[in-house]
Amino acid sequence: MQPTDEILKQLLHHLGKTKADELGCDELFELLDEYTEAAARGQITEQLMPLVQQHLDQCHDCCEEFEALLSILKSEAA
Ligand SMILES: [Zn+2]
Repeated sequence: MQPTDEILKQLLHHLGKTKADELGCDELFELLDEYTEAAARGQITEQLMPLVQQHLDQCHDCCEEFEALLSILKSEAA
């Protein structure tokens, strides 16, 4: 069992993001690995999803990075 929620909470805490403020690209990248792994496992957290999803919706670069990571993780898991 991976304590994904705890890791994400700690990351958010490190970033000073305890509320649903907008993330910058640098901040998103720090979260993206964990977020993508959680997404690949179907373990997206309700707390983090709006933050990351909001940025991915607005930022094509990060969205492409996320989808690339996700496809890699899914192909590894398959
Ligand atoms: Zn971005």
